[in-house]
Amino acid sequence: MGRSFEVIAVDFDGTLCENEFPEIGAPNLELIKYLRDKQREGARLILWTCRCDEQLADAVDWCVNKHGLVFDAVNDNLPGMISAFGGSNPRKVYADIYIDDRMSNEWKLPFVKEEKTNDDNNSNG
Ligand SMILES: [Mg+2]
Repeated sequence: MGRSFEVIAVDFDGTLCENEFPEIGAPNLELIKYLRDKQREGARLILWTCRCDEQLADAVDWCVNKHGLVFDAVNDNLPGMISAFGGSNPRKVYADIYIDDRMSNEWKLPFVKEEKTNDDNNSNG
């Protein structure tokens, strides 16, 4: 049976905010809005970060209370996925889309910071 929703795993430092670890940098408002919109449309969101303990709690609090971004799981698979894996919970979270500043390809909208355009390349500034 197919799934009716998309699973999106998103990194924190350098992705949802500028990387100021262990502090929290400026928010990536475009990405935050995109994720809230996707969740409203039915997507499930997983926070997928190396942060632990208090720094993880700070990140979750920042997302929820400053930006209205509520995750369906934090550094974990969605409960429904665990049963789909036959009851095991692998350490790699399962997602359809992974959004991370360490992505090997150029970020694409709506995740992009900035893409160079011909105008940028031609500017003398
Ligand atoms: Mg990162």
